[in-house]
Amino acid sequence: MEHRPSAREAAQPIYLDHAATSPLDPEVRAALLPWLGELFGNPSSAHLHGRRARAAVDAARDRVASATGCASREVIFTSGGTEADNLALRGVLERWGPERGRHLVVSAVEHEAVLATARGLAEAGRADLTVVDCDRRGRIDPAAVAAAVRPDTVMVSVMLANNEVGTVQDVPAIAAAVRARNPRVLVHSDAVQALGRLPLGLDALGVDLLSLSAHKAYGPQGVGALVARHGTFPAAQITGGGQERERRSGTENVAGIAGFGVAAELAERSREADARRLHELAGRLTNLLVETVPGVEPTGDPDRRLPGLCSLVVPGCRSDLMLAVLDELGVCASAGSACSSGAPTPSHVLQAMGFGELGGCALRLGLGRFTTEADIEAAAERVGQAARRVHEAGAPAVGRLGPTG
Ligand code: PLP
Repeated sequence: MEHRPSAREAAQPIYLDHAATSPLDPEVRAALLPWLGELFGNPSSAHLHGRRARAAVDAARDRVASATGCASREVIFTSGGTEADNLALRGVLERWGPERGRHLVVSAVEHEAVLATARGLAEAGRADLTVVDCDRRGRIDPAAVAAAVRPDTVMVSVMLANNEVGTVQDVPAIAAAVRARNPRVLVHSDAVQALGRLPLGLDALGVDLLSLSAHKAYGPQGVGALVARHGTFPAAQITGGGQERERRSGTENVAGIAGFGVAAELAERSREADARRLHELAGRLTNLLVETVPGVEPTGDPDRRLPGLCSLVVPGCRSDLMLAVLDELGVCASAGSACSSGAPTPSHVLQAMGFGELGGCALRLGLGRFTTEADIEAAAERVGQAARRVHEAGAPAVGRLGPTG
């Protein structure tokens, strides 16, 4: 049945779920739309249409390379961050495991795209896995990662910025500590949340592989990249026609890739100004909530956080109930991460950070390029209103609605 918008939906809710996905930037849309209309072509075709499509893919590849400080040939386009993470872990293990060993080290706060993949490989007997714990702020200690590294470790994967609580890891220190212990280990970082918000220079980060996704940075859904330093050679996990220099087969998503290229360029161009503004706005929102909503506790690391992410726990207010009331009040928010909606399981990130039952009361407000000060003030007021309503309803504080991104 067709969905008829209610009066409130028609009045445009305040969108504070940019960590789940972001709207297309108008420049991205303008670059992408012709490829859904008059332009088309298979980049592998030698004729005019094919050459045009190839040129669009190549231009986007150059833009992603420039945003990450790598060579264009080091960019492998994928269907998004999840596939990039899978290609990194599975591809490196398959390529280097037989020679170097099959031990993987990941952090306890990784997105499921890394964590579930690593666990699946271990359960299938294809890898040995060490999961490194975090502290109460979600920080991973570089010394603890180095201590987990063994002579047979093939790869370490630690995300740059956490999608649930926004903690930014000291990836350069982690990479240096890992290399000091075993120089052959490849270092991967999931930077999906960081594009357009944090600097992504591969050299400065000291990593060999980096995962990206367009839709977290005002680009389209269903496209991303694994940046893989020349020499890392992750084995293809999707085989066929040999596209992407034999790293990822399948006819390229030309429209998506063209949009991603522009999103990556915009991300770099506006990163500093965006990050400064978002950092201030999120700080203001956090302060307003701490001042006005009883018991609110910000989560994550206040000293190293992803610009624009405000994450907290609201004791006594179950996440799923809060989100439902906020939705009614015209605020789109989420509880944290996970891509399996509907499962009221506690967040593995907040569990690892030691929040226990309180993890079921998480609230994540993700700000973006188009968020205004007025949005922040209205949202703070509505979160207070929602908390009062949930308290009055007296629901027990357990579980959370499996959210998004
Ligand atoms: N890694 C992180 C940190 C994320 O936040 C997400 C978002 O869902 C992903 C990976 C998966 O990316 P995608 O949605 O492009 O598959």
